[in-house]
Amino acid sequence: MKPTFEMVLKALGIELTRSKADVEFKGHCPFHDEKKEDRARFYINEKNDYFTCYICKKKGTLADFVRELGKDEAWLGELMWSEREVQLTEILTGFFDLIASKTQEERAGIAAKLAHRI
Ligand SMILES: [Zn+2]
Repeated sequence: MKPTFEMVLKALGIELTRSKADVEFKGHCPFHDEKKEDRARFYINEKNDYFTCYICKKKGTLADFVRELGKDEAWLGELMWSEREVQLTEILTGFFDLIASKTQEERAGIAAKLAHRI
């Protein structure tokens, strides 16, 4: 799993609008003082690993974006760990929900299959 702009935006509470088949974000630039009524000219393209502001001219990759926001590699590493934890929790919750929906006999079958893998 690779870090994404979306993860960083979510972690820092930066709200942008999604557009263009989910690969692009658009909104107010987090790097320069912009009036809310000004037309938003800040774009992120997740697919091309690129952000750009047409007003203050800041641009770069996700790594540049993180640096510009005053965060470092360690911060991004922590973020990745917490994202993995969330994903793992979702997987396990799904697994236990599935188990709960099975009959006693089916559960025994699943347990036997899993026992072979250890
Ligand atoms: Zn800007």
